[in-house]
Formats: sequence, C-alpha cells, structure tokens
Amino acid sequence: MKTAFETMLPNISQLSALFDNMFEGVYFVDTDRKILFWSKGAERISGFTPGEVLGSHCFDNILIHNDNSGKNLCFDGCPLLASMKENKECEARVYMHHKNGSRVPVNVHTIPVKNEKGEIFGGFELFTESLPLSDMADRLMQLQKEALLDSLTELGNRRYFDATLYGRLKQQERYKTAFGMLFLDIDKFKAVNDTYGHATGDRVLVMIARTLQNNVRPFDMVSRIGGEEFTVIMDKIEPGHLQERADKLRLLVEKSEIYADGQRITVTVSIGATLSLPPDTAASILKRADSLMYEAKKNGRNRVVVG
Ligand code: GH3
Ligand code: MG
Ligand code: MG
Repeated sequence: MKTAFETMLPNISQLSALFDNMFEGVYFVDTDRKILFWSKGAERISGFTPGEVLGSHCFDNILIHNDNSGKNLCFDGCPLLASMKENKECEARVYMHHKNGSRVPVNVHTIPVKNEKGEIFGGFELFTESLPLSDMADRLMQLQKEALLDSLTELGNRRYFDATLYGRLKQQERYKTAFGMLFLDIDKFKAVNDTYGHATGDRVLVMIARTLQNNVRPFDMVSRIGGEEFTVIMDKIEPGHLQERADKLRLLVEKSEIYADGQRITVTVSIGATLSLPPDTAASILKRADSLMYEAKKNGRNRVVVG
C-alpha cells in the first residue's frame, strides 16, 4: 500500500532512497505541517525514528525549533511554513529538540513543493548539525591528515600511496601514458638507530623526506610506505629521464646531513626505478621496483638500478 507521501509524490520512491543516503536530515510535510517523510539522516540527527514522527505535526512536541532568543518557532517564524506560504526557499540557523531532550544546533533549508498547476502542497526541510564552520573544516582537515599522511614526515602514507597508484594505473589504462616508480630504501639504517638512538633515526627520516619532497616536480608524489622505505610516483616521465631523476634524488640524499651529539650524520639510499607499462598492476610494479632496489643493495648500495 502506498504511504500518504507516495500518493502525493508518485515518483518519490527513488528520491526517498536518495534522501536516505544523504548526510543531511530530510523531511517532508504537507501544508498542515504533518510529517509524511523522515529520512535516515533526520533519524540520526534527531534520535526519532520514522515510526515515532510520521503522521505527527512537526509542532507536536517533536522538533520544537527555537531561535537564539529562545522563541519557539513552531508558532511564530517557522521557516517551513514561511516557505510554503510565501513560495520561497528559506534558510535559518536554529536549535531543534533531540529525542534525548537536548538541543541540537542545526542549519535548516526549507523548500516549497508545487504540483504541475503550481499549487504548493507541501515542503521539504533539509537540516544539518551546525558545527561552527571553522571547527568543521578543521575537523575534516585533521581527519584527512590522519588518514592519509604519515605523522612523522607528513608525506603521503601507504594508504595515500595505494590510492594514488590505483589512480595512475587507471589513467594509464585509458590514456596509455607510462609513469615512473622509484622504490627507495635507506642503507644500513639500523646502524644509525643503534649508534645515535631512535629519535635521531627519526630526524634522519624527516631529513630524507624533505630532501625528496623538495626535489621532485610538483606533480610527482613522494610517500613513506614503510619504516625506512619511500616511493616516488613520477608522472609523465620520458623513459630516458628515469635514471637521471632517480640519481639526482640519490645524490641529494647523500648530501643531506643533520647533527646529533656534535656528530655529522649522513645516510645513503638504494633505489629501484622502473616504468609502469600495461599490463602492470599495483602489485607487479611494486614488486619490480622492490627487486630492482634489492639489486642496488647487492651491487654495493647508494646506487640506482633501472629496469
Ligand atoms: P639495508 O641497507 O640492507 O637496508 O640495511 P638496514 O639496516 O637499513 O635494514 P634493516 O631492514 O635491517 O633495518 C631497517 C631499520 O629501520 C630497522 C628499524 O629499526 C628502522 N626503522 C624502521 N622504521 C623506523 C622508524 O620509524 N624510526 C626509526 N628511527 N627507525 C626505523
Ligand atoms: Mg627496508
Ligand atoms: Mg634499509
């Protein structure tokens, strides 16, 4: 059997699936402000299930919006009512009632809904919890940073590397463009830790990360994918230039230095360098670059092997 909402809006079933997937809360009322649709987002933000609100009026002690001065907007200043009466979209920052009794700050956006004759027969309200914008942006930035950046060096981490590599392989599949992959491993790094301590080892990792990041092209992507292992994805590289670019990085790492306990500390890296070519997969290209890096180790370290 069709719900009252579906009778009013015959093509609504696809839309309600969309509304349910939205981050915002969405609800629909008729012109008497009887609630006929209540999305999953609305449930998440308010605590009320559809069963608890459908068929009620939004002023029946459910949402009880109030503004900054404490005025109850259900009876004076309801944005949804204003939208339906004046045929306009409204936006407001208000406080709503949560099932647990608390007040939730929300940004609401109300939209009148018309039939084909242009008559308004209801209205939608979209609402989101309104954290101060700066808080929201900071939180998102922080989450993104934690998820994708290595906290020590602030380079991309393994997850970021995997995602980028996946993108590059897709690009290659479509446009047949090769890209370069460098795999770098610090030589005898254990000895640095053993001699100077782990904290100094960490400073060496940061030093190498900065040297690599400062000396690749803006669209190359440097990651730290393991303890003392780094990768560089080099977009748009001429096959003949791979050796030269890898060797430049190798030399610049060799020339980088920090001081600890009055001692000058330098390290070197062994690099495996290869071009991705169809039908390379993420696994095959990494494996090849890693094997080439081991060859560089076998051949005496502080060198590049291209393959
Ligand atoms: P090789 O030239 O064969 O690569 O020698 P290695 O000593 O670099 O290789 P090995 O794999 O034996 O040692 C890697 C060392 O890297 C061991 C580990 O303590 C160190 N390491 C890994 N992650 C970190 C880290 O986050 N901080 C510090 N300070 N050291 C780390
Ligand atoms: Mg290693
Ligand atoms: Mg090593």
